[in-house]
Amino acid sequence: MDQRCVRLAAIGPARARLAILTSTYGHSNMYNPDVIVIGAGVIGSSVAWHLAALGAGRVLVLERGQIGNGTSSQSSGILRTHYSVIENVELARRSWQAFDNFAAYVGDEDAAAGLVKCGYLIAAPEGPKLEPLRAALAAQVATGIPLELLTQAQASERLPICRFDDAALIGFEPQAGFADATLVATSFARAARRRGVKIMEGVAVQGLVRENGRITGVETSQGRFNAPVVVSAQNIWATELSRWTGIETPVKPERHAVLALEGPEAYSYSMPVYKDLGSPGMLYCRSYGGSQMLVSEGTVGETLSEPDNEQGDISMDYVVEVGAQAAERFPSFETAGLASSWTGVYDVTPDWNPVLGRVDDVPGLVVGFGFSGHGFKLSPAVGRVLAQEALGLPTDVSLAPYALERFRSGRLLTGSYGSGAVS
Ligand SMILES: Cc1cc2nc3c(=O)[nH]c(=O)nc-3n(C[C@H](O)[C@H](O)[C@H](O)COP(=O)(O)OP(=O)(O)OC[C@H]3O[C@@H](n4cnc5c(N)ncnc54)[C@H](O)[C@@H]3O)c2cc1C
Repeated sequence: MDQRCVRLAAIGPARARLAILTSTYGHSNMYNPDVIVIGAGVIGSSVAWHLAALGAGRVLVLERGQIGNGTSSQSSGILRTHYSVIENVELARRSWQAFDNFAAYVGDEDAAAGLVKCGYLIAAPEGPKLEPLRAALAAQVATGIPLELLTQAQASERLPICRFDDAALIGFEPQAGFADATLVATSFARAARRRGVKIMEGVAVQGLVRENGRITGVETSQGRFNAPVVVSAQNIWATELSRWTGIETPVKPERHAVLALEGPEAYSYSMPVYKDLGSPGMLYCRSYGGSQMLVSEGTVGETLSEPDNEQGDISMDYVVEVGAQAAERFPSFETAGLASSWTGVYDVTPDWNPVLGRVDDVPGLVVGFGFSGHGFKLSPAVGRVLAQEALGLPTDVSLAPYALERFRSGRLLTGSYGSGAVS
């Protein structure tokens, strides 16, 4: 007997008949799953696949647009376990294991992550970021993550186009790099479908249906779907939950710009991702297409009044400003040209860390939002813990630190680098 039958039996035969009639004739869809996932970005698709892998029963994913076409499609794709917030290290470590052998992880030979295993190099000069870097590297080592401390000369060997003459501390994480978030979202989604998950694109969830406070389903642009558990993976649109339920969703949409620079020297795939804690914008850089440099600032972006991931303008002044920071570190990029650029929107919380897990005030609702510009690297492990949470199973890592409640209690997950996605 499945979970829904148990529920119907529990409310008695007369009401059960009524429930069945309502579900058949009262604007409800015939397909009533055990779990509904809202959103098919890299998080929702991962949740869906993990639900199926954990034997969740009928899983329905409702996506307003297309799979992977939300903010995931704008991601820089960097994968690292480096964090100053130790809770994130474990989620990132578990996720790396999935990315490292992605097709095997999802059990689908057609799945791909587009992984480039080039490593992650992070450096700080003397100054305020030095001790936080030292502490974060030591914490990583303590958890058993492979990590090397490099001299300036060793760093130059790995990334010869970059100057390290002012670096006081350089960490190198060999098991890191970057991958393709759209590819990961669509791969998770296809593998989920192959395990029986139903994914409907072009369907907007317009509200949550509740009985005595408990979730019983969702209203959508295509009618009602009944389910006792709903997982929201809505990213910047998680604020809709506030409208629907009155719960707080402390997340704001923040636009960031990403530039691809074409310099006289190639930033090749074998060169590591580089995080420059010494630059005003705390730049991150990586190879783009095997020769160009993808560069973006790791600090605060432009707050939008409404969630909207349409492309925004990037002024020439801004290109010049970021280009100058890049050239400061990569001298030959003094003469670089702008090859392409785009904007993307982060779902930023007050402590730049996500909200994960059940919401006490709305039984049946599980949320995963507020990834603050670093959710891709966490997506496999987050998908699994949210699926476990939805099914009432013990989670691989404790979700208590990530609870929504922390914004009331003040037990924030604030990183020691200040505001920004390095967290
Ligand atoms: C410019 C940029 C660079 C980044 N770089 C990195 C990086 O280097 N490394 C890293 O780890 N992370 C990075 N990130 C962050 C990472 O990409 C995101 O955290 C992650 O992709 C978010 O996935 P998601 O599934 O939560 O969101 P999304 O991909 O936005 O998916 C949410 C989905 O929910 C759907 N939805 C919302 N509301 C509804 C509704 N009511 N009904 C139906 N569907 C709905 C939307 O249509 C959307 O498709 C970056 C992000 C940006 C923008």
